[in-house]
Amino acid sequence: MAIYPTMRSPLLPSLVLLVAGLPLMTPNRISAVLEGDGSSPLPQVASPDTPVARATSSQVNSGVREQAPPVTVLQPARVFDGETMHTGWVVVVRGERIESAGPAAATPAGAHVVALPGLTLLPGLIEGHSHLLLHPYNETSWNDQVAREPLAYRVARAVNHARDTLMAGITTVRDLGSEGAGYADVGLKRAIDEGVIPGPRMLVAGPAMVVSGSYGPKGYAPEWTVPQGAEEASGLDGVMRVARDQIGRGADFIKVYADYRYGPNGEARPTFTLDELRRIVEVAQSSGRPVVAHASTVEGMRRAIQAGVATIEHGDSGTAEIWKLMVERTVGFCPTLAAGDATSQYAGWKKGSAPEPSRVTAKRVSFKAALDAGVTICFGGDVGVYAHGDNVRELELMVDYGMRPADALKSATSVNARLFHVDDRVGAVKPGLLADVIAVEGDPTQDIGALRRVKLVMKGGMIYRR
Ligand SMILES: [Zn+2]
Repeated sequence: MAIYPTMRSPLLPSLVLLVAGLPLMTPNRISAVLEGDGSSPLPQVASPDTPVARATSSQVNSGVREQAPPVTVLQPARVFDGETMHTGWVVVVRGERIESAGPAAATPAGAHVVALPGLTLLPGLIEGHSHLLLHPYNETSWNDQVAREPLAYRVARAVNHARDTLMAGITTVRDLGSEGAGYADVGLKRAIDEGVIPGPRMLVAGPAMVVSGSYGPKGYAPEWTVPQGAEEASGLDGVMRVARDQIGRGADFIKVYADYRYGPNGEARPTFTLDELRRIVEVAQSSGRPVVAHASTVEGMRRAIQAGVATIEHGDSGTAEIWKLMVERTVGFCPTLAAGDATSQYAGWKKGSAPEPSRVTAKRVSFKAALDAGVTICFGGDVGVYAHGDNVRELELMVDYGMRPADALKSATSVNARLFHVDDRVGAVKPGLLADVIAVEGDPTQDIGALRRVKLVMKGGMIYRR
């Protein structure tokens, strides 16, 4: 994989503000700040319903200047730093960053101490495959969401999805396509970065790319030209033009559908040729962006891997040869177990009381084979197919299908941060990184279900949930 500096863009606004001496804050807070000359460093402002925020808001309102950013000391029972568990650690947060993490030392003067007895502190989780512009398919089919829901309606829902995601302890998402909602993901990301609405940091795909004629919604008269759930492209010149256009409009990476269900009998078949995929990767990498491939057939996966994509999404029909190729080319694998689990239940499977459908059993087997082959496993569930905020469902299934809880936890933190090239800012509890941390009841390395008992969410040093 190449280096992708622009993957940093979702995290950039806070850095830009930091350079300017201003912390990330909401527009009304920005206007309060701008009553002065705007040139002096000001204290960080958190959400007004937290103790940290109350202190700092009054400082802003009274015009206090030249003051160090607020310091918060987090005192949990244990700390998972993204790799291993530690007991007796405290974490000191100054402004938007982690200042120190280690055995308890003297509390800095003026620090706000947050005692978290019995809780595990860990990096905010990084969801690898979300669609914030979609809602569960058992509420409305994908076809009807794309074809019948107005854009503003979809964005209104997405605002709630973003909040629910953050409150569930997901502080970063890689959002893999707006599914017919154009560049609404780019706007959503901006609103979150500017503090207009609460939500996770976002890495966005924009509309995503499909081969002409392959995608949906389908079922209309062939004489009609139906708006599609992703942007169509064909030919070497065509894919170059679309990739460059998506980059120019704000895509952090290019998402391609390397295969799709457009075979003569509705089965999945490869879409882009190897040459087209190589051309897309060439164009994207030239701009510092990775390519992410939806692929579930052997040939679709093979072409995508050979072309140089960063991750494969779904991968249902992966074989020993494919897993080996992925290990050799350091391609990550987002298995999206929860999507299949959910859609099987939408189709009538009574989980727990009825035998597992063959499709689910096959997925269980192929996931374990990828794991045993040493493929780097990404935490990414295709959330949106099922409810936003229920992201942990994927981690529970990863464990159920054979992964150790501690490894699943690494996937959701340090591994995803590395795969998405944001590990210099998030994904670990380490000095210098952004203070994106959560605290949960219990020990998630023993019981992954502990991740459902979120007691604290901090993003960029601000407490959003406690
Ligand atoms: Zn998806």
